Amino acid sequence: MNKKKLFRKFSTIGRVGKNKILMNRNYPLEERMVFFIYLTMIAATAVIVLMNIVDSIPFHKNYKWFGFITFVAIVAALYWNKIEWRRIIRNVSTIVTLYIIFPTLFFLSGGLRTAAIPYMIILLLAIVYSFSGKFRIWLMVTYILLAEGLMVINFLYPEIFPTVTDRAMFVDWITNFPLILIIIAILALWVSSEHKYEREKALRFSKDMEKLSTNDTLTGIYNRRYLETRVIELAKDCDAVCLFIFDIDRFKNINDGFGHAEGDRILVNVAKFMPIAFPGMTSIRFGGDEFLILFKGCISHNIHKMVKTFRKLLLDELGITISGGVVKYNGSLDESLARADKLLYDAKRDGRNKVNIED
Ligand code: GH3
Ligand code: MG
Repeated sequence: MNKKKLFRKFSTIGRVGKNKILMNRNYPLEERMVFFIYLTMIAATAVIVLMNIVDSIPFHKNYKWFGFITFVAIVAALYWNKIEWRRIIRNVSTIVTLYIIFPTLFFLSGGLRTAAIPYMIILLLAIVYSFSGKFRIWLMVTYILLAEGLMVINFLYPEIFPTVTDRAMFVDWITNFPLILIIIAILALWVSSEHKYEREKALRFSKDMEKLSTNDTLTGIYNRRYLETRVIELAKDCDAVCLFIFDIDRFKNINDGFGHAEGDRILVNVAKFMPIAFPGMTSIRFGGDEFLILFKGCISHNIHKMVKTFRKLLLDELGITISGGVVKYNGSLDESLARADKLLYDAKRDGRNKVNIED
């Protein structure tokens, strides 16, 4: 691979890593978290090396950290490139990190006199956020036992650990601690913002689904499914409920003569005029070119007036007429609809452009 290609390859990993995995919500949070933790480990280790250099610690002490960075960088690159191996790469790299690299670094760096304990906490958080189920519990339990074991060894055999002077210990803590706090804060903020996003997404989705189940997709007004719920609600709240069912006259002629899109436009406009002519009432598309109004109250004079206004609006604005029937809801929707349908059918049979209102 020539230099240019190599550069392109690395810049792609960086770009992809930042934009396509870390922030891309199409990937599960656990997968993105693993990638974030790899990147964090590289960054944190690089800072440790930098601080060692600043503090004039013999350079050979950094080799183990370079080894660690190389290991994590290879794992991260593999993780990014081999999508189908992600699970196994994640599992193997975690096991190697927890049970081989972590204890090794603990021994080589000076045990509890370094910032080992806060790093132990980060590793535990990494397990919690990147895994799930029984495997997570197993990892957590064995890891905590291992950490306990290392501390006991440190207490019983301090001579097997390299000596760390008070000054070196101070430098280690003062440099690592803010870094660790920042990493923990980022993890916590990220997880909470992802959870908030997921909650809002679920809420939006359930609202959309609810709307889809109760509203007609073309006109936006309620659909037939909502009728049953609504009529029961209204019957509870009002003294009387009336149903007005109507069907556009010769609607097929509009579809055939002007096209389906024009037919749709007429249906949308009929739905738009319904709440204007029947303010405060429930508008429903019953199906096809058939609509329904649920009246709160059955004052015949008011219904007459509203139906008249509506028919005039349809004729003036859309050039269409309707046939329909108005009945009083009697507690049985099926029976009431059958009566209304009969009136509608009579109006059609009588030559259309007619609304029959039950006495
Ligand atoms: P009538 O006076 O007897 O009611 O005659 P009509 O031509 O209106 O006949 P009918 O009510 O039986 O026909 C309704 C037509 O509405 C049939 C169907 O092709 C059309 N239709 C149903 N749904 C839609 C729709 O969503 N968009 C459009 N453009 N047409 C629809
Ligand atoms: Mg019709």
